Amino acid sequence: MPVFVVSAPSGTGKTTLNRRMLKECPRLEMSVSHTTRGPRQGEVDGVHYHFIKADEFRAMVEAHAFIEWAEVHGNLYGTTFSELKRIENGGKDPLLEIDIQGWHNAKNLLDNAISIFILPPSMSSLWQRLEKRGSDPLEIRWVRLQNAYDEIQKAHEYDILIINNDLEVAYQKLKSIILSGKPEGKGDPEGLMLCQTLNVEFETADWIKGLREKMGSLKTVSE
Ligand code: ADP
Ligand code: 5GP
Repeated sequence: MPVFVVSAPSGTGKTTLNRRMLKECPRLEMSVSHTTRGPRQGEVDGVHYHFIKADEFRAMVEAHAFIEWAEVHGNLYGTTFSELKRIENGGKDPLLEIDIQGWHNAKNLLDNAISIFILPPSMSSLWQRLEKRGSDPLEIRWVRLQNAYDEIQKAHEYDILIINNDLEVAYQKLKSIILSGKPEGKGDPEGLMLCQTLNVEFETADWIKGLREKMGSLKTVSE
């Protein structure tokens, strides 16, 4: 049975795409990760995440409970072997919404995985989406934008790149990959080129230079 792995820089649209995918594709089931971060408003333990303390997480690492785990924005997140087994025993295909390091750590263990990386059409649209979502203050959005730059350097580690410019178009591409279960030739062929363009934008765009100057003193802020 395939395992679907979806990663994207924060704000790209993976939650929006995955939520619709889970509604329309009953064969898929979201893998519920363990995390040391606290629940946000509306999040339910065991549904959105298994919320645990750092020492419990460490004990699970020692006990080799995780197929992958990573520290993301200062919190620990991991996918357990038992969660994947539970989903597969129920006859479904797991959908893992994990970060880039997690995929890097798990890819040798998940030989049946189809990995998908979602790209924003530009850094400026990513910035606008982070603003539009309205969930994070300026300094956190800036940390996320910088992390996005680092994450985009690893996009080539994925089977498929999808550009989330027009939401409907991106959704239909994701859906066709998940329904067919085959990674070949279904992503956006211009994805890797876009990664270069995003790098250049991050390194040279005036609006980012302005932000860098403004946020310079806050560079060490983390979530
Ligand atoms: P992520 O889960 O990757 O952090 P979200 O799904 O929360 O991202 O999306 C971030 C914001 O961008 C949300 O306000 C969402 O409605 C918006 N968004 C997602 N995809 C698009 C798109 N293709 N065009 C414009 N806005 C989008
Ligand atoms: P959030 O705290 O916003 O829910 O998630 C932050 C980041 O952690 C997202 O990039 C999300 O994909 C990632 N993440 C969630 N669960 C896991 C997991 O089990 N493993 C890894 N490596 N990353 C995860």
